[in-house]
Amino acid sequence: MNRIPLARPDLSGNEEAYVMDAVRSSWISSSGAYIGRFEREFAAFCGVSRAVAVCNGTAALHLALLGLRLEPGDEVIVPSLTYIATANAVRYCGAEPVFVDVEPSTWCIDPLAIQAAVGPRTRGIVTVDLYGHPADADAVNAIAREHGLWVVEDAAEAHGARYKGRPAGSLAEVATFSFYGNKVMTSGEGGALTTNDPELEQRIRLLRGQGMDPERRYYFPITGYNYRITNIAAALLCAQMERREDILARRRDIFARYREGLKDVRGIGLQPAAPWAQTSPWLFCVTVDAKAYGESRDALCARLEAAGVETRPFFIPLHTLPPFAAQSRTRGGSLAVTESLAASGINLPTFNQLEPSEIDRVCGLIRQD
Ligand SMILES: *Cc1c(COP(=O)(O)O)cnc(C)c1O
Repeated sequence: MNRIPLARPDLSGNEEAYVMDAVRSSWISSSGAYIGRFEREFAAFCGVSRAVAVCNGTAALHLALLGLRLEPGDEVIVPSLTYIATANAVRYCGAEPVFVDVEPSTWCIDPLAIQAAVGPRTRGIVTVDLYGHPADADAVNAIAREHGLWVVEDAAEAHGARYKGRPAGSLAEVATFSFYGNKVMTSGEGGALTTNDPELEQRIRLLRGQGMDPERRYYFPITGYNYRITNIAAALLCAQMERREDILARRRDIFARYREGLKDVRGIGLQPAAPWAQTSPWLFCVTVDAKAYGESRDALCARLEAAGVETRPFFIPLHTLPPFAAQSRTRGGSLAVTESLAASGINLPTFNQLEPSEIDRVCGLIRQD
């Protein structure tokens, strides 16, 4: 039986041709036509006026926070249930993440928990569109306005998702994306920021390119970073963008087949979707209620692994990890939903080449039939 990996990029369109074109043209560094083309197309895809491509999603988060002038000693409210990059980027600025819980109905940041966590040093909020489900942007933005805070949308896992009809990437002052190898669209490593704010865009571009003045070569008004993307990576992204609707449709079919195969399995829960959400089909999620299911989450993962099916447990709550646990700021709130999801959730294999028979095999193993 074939081993089924968790993720695998689909590079079956113009990816090879565009990369070869970049190589043959010798435009392989951070100038080249694919970068501008991708930035224009991606901004339109996200329903915003501007996009800046960068070398990865973590750099995108760092640039978003620097662009918004986050400073040492400041605090940023962040959900604890997310990939570590969300909180690391806050630390890169010398600021501290304040971790809050997620909502059971979306698995994303809980607006009521934000209200309770705002303090005198709070400067902003990072929402995460977790596992493809958009956060409740209107509720979060209203709280932000009330307290004079900015909002960053970490949309790394939510390519093509929508909130009340508005695309992920357009739901905050600035949004960030990752194009890591397991994301819906990929360039291996890659990232982007999206915004409607021309000044913020200019500052992000300055910070991305070592801080060099666009009008005056080798004059650096600020300390910047080299967070540029290569034309080769952008070539891959242009090819992925051509097939984005196909990629999304194929993955939605995979989600539908998993949902059908796993409905009504005692003790197995599926990812909720708020009525206003159109989710992005990133990695299919299930939760295991060990008592009802008769087997623990980890035992199920081990059984799937032994049968050649790769899975991944949900993220470990960030407020419990060594870099954050000692001085973890949770404002005393209990993060019960985060902890329960983290202990019970699994991501199942999700990638374009996954065969219906393979989905059925995974579902059969979970149903134990
Ligand atoms: C993948 C991911 C990132 C970071 O992406 P990289 O491109 O690997 O740096 C950030 N936030 C979330 C929620 C992610 O899933």
